[in-house]
Amino acid sequence: MEIILVYYGQVIFLSFIVINHLAEIYLSRRQLQTLTAGRDAVPTEFASVLSLADHQKAIAYGSARLNLSQLRLVWDAILMFYWFPFRGLEKLYLALPGEGLHKEVIFLLSLTLIQMLLSLPWGLYSTFVLEEKFGFNRTTWKMFFVDRVKGLVLAALIGIPLLYAILAFFTFFPKTWWIFSFFLLTAFQFAMVWVYPRWIAPLFNKFRPLEEVELKTGIEKLVTSAGFVAKEVYVMDASKRSSHGNAYFTGFGKSKRIVFFDTLLSTLSPGEVFSILAHELGHLKLKHIPKSLITSVILSFLGFALMGYLAQKPEFYAAHFVRVYSPGALLVLFSLAVPLYTFWSTPVSSWISRKREFEADAYAAGETGPEGLISGLLKLYKENASPVITDKVYSAFYHSHPPALERVKRLRTLEGKTSQGLT
Ligand SMILES: [Zn+2]
Repeated sequence: MEIILVYYGQVIFLSFIVINHLAEIYLSRRQLQTLTAGRDAVPTEFASVLSLADHQKAIAYGSARLNLSQLRLVWDAILMFYWFPFRGLEKLYLALPGEGLHKEVIFLLSLTLIQMLLSLPWGLYSTFVLEEKFGFNRTTWKMFFVDRVKGLVLAALIGIPLLYAILAFFTFFPKTWWIFSFFLLTAFQFAMVWVYPRWIAPLFNKFRPLEEVELKTGIEKLVTSAGFVAKEVYVMDASKRSSHGNAYFTGFGKSKRIVFFDTLLSTLSPGEVFSILAHELGHLKLKHIPKSLITSVILSFLGFALMGYLAQKPEFYAAHFVRVYSPGALLVLFSLAVPLYTFWSTPVSSWISRKREFEADAYAAGETGPEGLISGLLKLYKENASPVITDKVYSAFYHSHPPALERVKRLRTLEGKTSQGLT
């Protein structure tokens, strides 16, 4: 094994741990400063819809979340140091019983359980202190723990067989295991698109068919005009956990299942619901969903190919302070260490996503006119206490949606065009 290579690898890995976390804290502090600086006045563009009190609530909420995320970043960096250079992973692996495949599965399960327990206080604080303070939380303690137990049982039922399959491929086909694993996981993800809304989501929420006549007819009209069939339109009781609102689509091909959070329907007028729906339909119509699906399949193929290649390189393990050359260790390295390197692609995916949001907005404006979308978006900003101001660099790095100001400005230019077209 190349000692020098390992040494450089370790230095690079440690630098990534430190630099990534510092960069994230830096970005978060920039955002915090922008929010604080803009606290005293509502931007003129929003003055007619957003009161100063609403604006300040959004800033206080946004700032509280940023402060919590900064603490979390420090904690995550400490954990990274413990698992890797302080050899926590190695110690855990050696301390566990079992042999062969079983040992690998026990290792991965123990690590998952430990990570889950370590993140529990953050979840508790976020739900019962932070969200509670701003009036969003509706989760009870019982619901919180029942949700987690259900999640754990499901993860075990689904995850253990998948793990055994991948580890068996690894053992019996040392050269081609990654191709089999890639196909297995891709097939699994596609199956989940069908399985999740039908069997898994109902374990956590209740779904009722949308009955409101005005909404239903409007929705069917929009969906048909986009060339799809609204096979099933449901309302989900999201309000039992949180008052944040949302809507989503699932399904392949022409027929779509549409799910609205009840919180969204109670906040928006029917016209605004149609505009938000038209925006989502825009994503489908413009093929954003198949495009991102294809991209993620390609990336996952490359990831598995890289795993197949690095699995045979003891230097790769050693560069990450792991002297256990096992498939379990390889999977852990790819889930905990490799994201540090891919982190720097975040601004690229955010940029692509923002570009697609503008395109979907333009589609919606064409279908329902921009006014409904503008007022619907602003209501959602207000109801979710999302600040309408943002730091440019922070937003460019992380935001999957364009800043409120840019989005509304762009929609208002479309407003001009539509009325010109009409006259
Ligand atoms: Zn969108």
